[in-house]
This record gives sequence, C-alpha cells and structure tokens, in this order.
Amino acid sequence: MRAEGLFKVFGRGGSQAVEQLRKGTARTDLADGITAAVIDASFEVKKGEIFVVMGLSGSGKSTLIRMLNGLHPATAGSVTIGDDSITDVSASKLRDIRRHRISMVFQHFALLPHRTVIDNVAYGLEIQGMGKDERIARARKVTEIVGLAGWEEKHPSELSGGMQQRVGLARALAADTDVLLMDEAFSALDPLIRREMQDQLLELQETLGKTIVFITHDLNEAMYIGDRIAVMRDGRIVQIGAPEDILTNPANDYVEQFVQDVDRTKVLTAESVMRKPRAVIHENDGPTGALSMMRDEQLSAAYVIKRDRTIVGWVRDRDVLDLVRKGEKSIRSAIQADHGAVDKDTSLADLLIPSLEAALPLAVKDDRDRLVGVIPRVTLLATLGGEPEAAAQATHRPDPLPTEVVDRALDNAGKENA
Ligand code: ADP
Ligand code: MG
Repeated sequence: MRAEGLFKVFGRGGSQAVEQLRKGTARTDLADGITAAVIDASFEVKKGEIFVVMGLSGSGKSTLIRMLNGLHPATAGSVTIGDDSITDVSASKLRDIRRHRISMVFQHFALLPHRTVIDNVAYGLEIQGMGKDERIARARKVTEIVGLAGWEEKHPSELSGGMQQRVGLARALAADTDVLLMDEAFSALDPLIRREMQDQLLELQETLGKTIVFITHDLNEAMYIGDRIAVMRDGRIVQIGAPEDILTNPANDYVEQFVQDVDRTKVLTAESVMRKPRAVIHENDGPTGALSMMRDEQLSAAYVIKRDRTIVGWVRDRDVLDLVRKGEKSIRSAIQADHGAVDKDTSLADLLIPSLEAALPLAVKDDRDRLVGVIPRVTLLATLGGEPEAAAQATHRPDPLPTEVVDRALDNAGKENA
C-alpha cells in the first residue's frame, strides 16, 4: 500500500489551500475555517509489515487512515493498493475494494447489540454476500483465533471491553483482506489487556502476514508493535523509521522530546546495543595462539567459535595457560560449554540478569547460533541509564593474567617447540 503526496484540507477552498501549503504557507496562516489535517504525506507499507502512525491527539492520524480506505476523499495526492487506486476510482468500485481488500478496526468498535458474537463476526461476510454456512464456519475459525472460543452465542453486553475489542478484530480478520487498518484499536483497554492484545496481534501477524496500518498516540505501544513508525505532528509526517532509529536518531527536537520517556528496555534489543567482540578464539587454535591473543587484548576469558562462527563455548586464560605449560596442542579440553549466549532479539529488560551472571561480556547469537556480537556489562548499564563507573566496579570478573606470567609461559613453550 502506497500513499503519495496526500493532503486533506477541511473547509471550503481546499485545493487552493493545498497550493498555498505546497508553496510553504504555514498551516496556521491559512484562511479562517480551513483545517489542514494532513499535509503532504508519503509512505509505503510493505506486505506483512506493521506500519504504525503515531502522534498526539489532533495530529491528523485518523484523517490519514480514513483516506487510506477512501472514507475521506483526499484533497490531493494518491493512495494505491497494489494496482488498485483508492483515490481515483468510482464509488461502487471503492465499496468493492473496501469489502474485499481493506478492513478496519476502530477504538470503540460498533458491535451490533442484538446479534451474537458469531453473527457479529460474520457480519462483514454477510455484506459480501457469502452464504450462511460458509460465513458461520469462517467466523467460528477467526473467533477461535482471537481467543473467544466458547463465547460464540453470547451477546456483546455480556462481554468485557477487551473481549468486545476481540470481536471487532475477529470481524476484521474474517473478511480476509490483505490490508488491515487499526485506528487506536487498543487505546480504550486497560493496560494489561492492552498488552495481551498487542501480543496477540504480533502472534497473529506471524502467520497472517497482513499489511497493517496501526494508529496510536502511545509511543510505547508504537515501539512495541511497529516494524516501522511514522511520527506525525500538526498534519505532517516528521519521521519514518524503525523503532530503534526513532529512538536513537530522532529527526528533530520534537521527536526527541517525544521519545524521552519511552521505556528503552522494552524497545532496544541485544542487537541494537551489542559490540564487535574484541577477540574470539577458533576451536582449532592452539593454546599459545589463544593465550597471546588474550594477553594482547587483556582478556581473562574469550568465546570459542567454529569456522562458521557457531558458538562452541568459552575459555579462561588460566586454563589455557595450563595447556601451554603442559605443551598441549589443542584448546579443546579447556573449553567450557555454558556460554549462555542470548538471542539477538532479546529485549534489554531481559538481558540484565544474564549479564550480571555472565563471566564475560554477554554473547549475542543469531537464529543459527552464530556469534554476532557481545554486550559488555558497562554498555548495557550505560544504555539503561545507570552509572558505567559503578557498573565496572560491580563486576566479579577476574583480572586477566599478569602479562609477565603469560610471556614467560609462551617463551618456555617457544623454546620447547624450537
Ligand atoms: P488524530 O486522529 O491524530 O487525533 P484527526 O485526524 O482526528 O487527528 O484530526 C486532525 C485535525 O483535523 C484536527 O485539528 C481536527 O479537529 C480536524 N478534523 C478532523 N476531522 C474533521 C472534520 N470532519 N472537519 C473539520 N475538521 C476536522
Ligand atoms: Mg484519531
């Protein structure tokens, strides 16, 4: 789905106002009675992506999303879904697209009070003209997907707010459209239920792979569920980026102020704070090579990897020193297997305990168990807003072996080899 140069101006003389805005007239300097709700919005939402539009109340989010499904005609600009234009199309064709290609969930989803849950879910399919048996069968399936199995025959008034919102979501899913538009769909829910719904949406999306535009005024929600986020201010999109981008590189002071109070521990992942490991040892390295590398980098321990970077474990300098003294040719017997590597998608909140327990900087692995980085405890604590100095003090890691001790052992080993 793509939006290009979209404008929505409420009030008489809209296209004239668009010309003025394009020439640089400020939104506040337009004629009385004219509101420029959306100004020059362009973006593309990829298939399978959750694209979040975030901004304060009144910034133009709802107006924008209503142009995406043609509920509001655009004053200028275009919206397309695949090859279908939304902005340049007859009313009947537009209705057709709305039925089959786009569904929408609102904050207060209007359920039909006299219909049961299952009939509410099947409602959109009924409008599509689907036969009764087929639509009830499909409605049952999505009702189960959203966790409402057993509630099919209840009426909306018998459900909690969270459950009603699930019915709304089920109705939208039942239509089986590629595009799902959600306008503050979870904003009226209690925080815990809201988090549950967010998790459920993410889980559903794993299998459904829909194109989702999700609107929220809540930054934490945006950061949690968005693959990418568009930040809106006064009708304009001021930044589009992945949650980490927005957090670490805010485009301007406005975005920066906005993101100041976000809970970084939930947004940032291991991948976004990891560093390149200072030194790694290959499992085929000999003890002398491994030890001199650890001496050069002043490390008391290091990770051991295979040629394809799969993590094998870690070694301590002391144990490698023993092998050097014994004249061993392989480090294998010194390798400890409990490397405790964390997945690269782990949130910072879940890294703290492993980091405190780890004997060396936390190893970060990808989904094929390859070492992709390390997170020193100081880095983690600095990112979390702690005191890096204190963090360094708090470490229980042993100091690396004294250089003289290592040098003497390596000299002796060299003599024996010679
Ligand atoms: P949000 O969803 O971000 O809170 P809206 O899109 O609802 O923002 O509103 C953006 C601006 O457009 C606001 O100033 C609002 O008052 C104005 N607006 C929205 N709908 C209309 C309308 N139908 N007529 C006139 N002004 C409107
Ligand atoms: Mg709104």
